[in-house]
Amino acid sequence: MAIVVTRILILGGTIEARTTAQVLVERPGVRVITSLAGRTDHPIRPAGELRIGGFGGADGLRDYLLAERIDRVLDATHPFAARISANARLACRAAGVPLVVLTRPRWAPEPSDRWLTAASPERAAALVADLPAGTVLLTIGRGSLDAFAPIDRHRFVIRSVDAPTGPLPARHEIVLARGPFTLADELELMRARGVDVLVTKNSGGPAAAAKLDAARTIGATVVVIDRPTPDPTDADPTDADPAGTDPTDADPAGMDPLAPDVPVAGVVTVTDPREAIDQLLDSATPTP
Ligand code: NAP
Repeated sequence: MAIVVTRILILGGTIEARTTAQVLVERPGVRVITSLAGRTDHPIRPAGELRIGGFGGADGLRDYLLAERIDRVLDATHPFAARISANARLACRAAGVPLVVLTRPRWAPEPSDRWLTAASPERAAALVADLPAGTVLLTIGRGSLDAFAPIDRHRFVIRSVDAPTGPLPARHEIVLARGPFTLADELELMRARGVDVLVTKNSGGPAAAAKLDAARTIGATVVVIDRPTPDPTDADPTDADPAGTDPTDADPAGMDPLAPDVPVAGVVTVTDPREAIDQLLDSATPTP
C-alpha cells in the first residue's frame, strides 16, 4: 500500500508559524515545509523541513507549489508582510491549492491609553518629531528605521533582532534582543531607559502585547503604525470556499497582487492556530 503523505507549506517568519509547524510534524502522514524570507541572520529553525529565500513573485510560488506537489498552504506570515500574503493568494488560486491564512487580531487602545496612530513609518516619525523631547523606544524592526534618522530632538532606544544597517538618529542606543518578551522584561527595559514614547507596528495578537501593557503601566505615549492594506483580517471569513478553487481560472502572470480588484478564492482566514491546524488537516487532499 502506498504511503499517503499530506504536504503542507507554511509561509513563516512568526512564532505562530513555528508553533503550528511543531504540532503538524507530529501528525503521521504530514510533511511540513516552512519557508522563510531570509531577513534575519540567524533564524530560529522550525520543526520539519526548511527552505529560505523568495520564490520569485506569485508566479514563482505557483511553480513551487506545483513542483513540490503541495496539498495545502498556511500563510502564517507577519501582518505587515503584505506582499507575500498577496502572492500566496494568487499562487494558491492559480495552482488550485487551498490556502489557510492565520493572522492576528489588531491591538486596540484601552480607555487610559495614550495612543497616536500613523498610517506608515514616515507618518509615525512625523508624530514622534512633534512630541516633547524625551526617550523613544523603537520596536518596528530594522527595516523601517530610516524615517526616524533625521530626528535629533529625542534619544532613541532601538530594539531589533539583528543590528540595523541603514541610517539612524544621532542619539541612539541599540538593544539586540529576540522576543517574545514578558511584561517584566518590557517594564525593566522601559524603566531602565526612562522611556517616554513607544513606537510599534500594530502587529496584534498576544505574543508581542506585553510592551503595550508596560507602556500603559509607566504612562508612556504609544505611536502605533497601522497595518498595510490589504490586510488578511479584513477578508470576509464567511466567503471561505477551500474546495471551490478552480485551478484553470487564474493566471497570476502580469497581475499586481496588491491591486484591490484581484479576485480571491479558496481562502480560509482564522486567528487561532488550533483552528488553522484543524483546517489544514481536515481539508487537505493527501496524495500518494
Ligand atoms: P513582504 O514585503 O510581504 O515580502 C517581500 C518578499 O519577500 C516577497 O515577495 C517574497 O519574495 C519574500 N518573502 C516574504 N516572506 C517570505 C516567506 N515566508 N518565504 C519566502 N519568501 C518570502 O515581507 P516582509 O515584510 O519583508 O517580511 C519578510 C518576512 O519576515 C515574512 O516572512 C514575515 O513573516 C517576517 N516578518 C515580517 C515582519 C514585518 O514587520 N514586515 C515582522 C516580523 C516577521 P518573492 O516575491 O521573491 O517570493
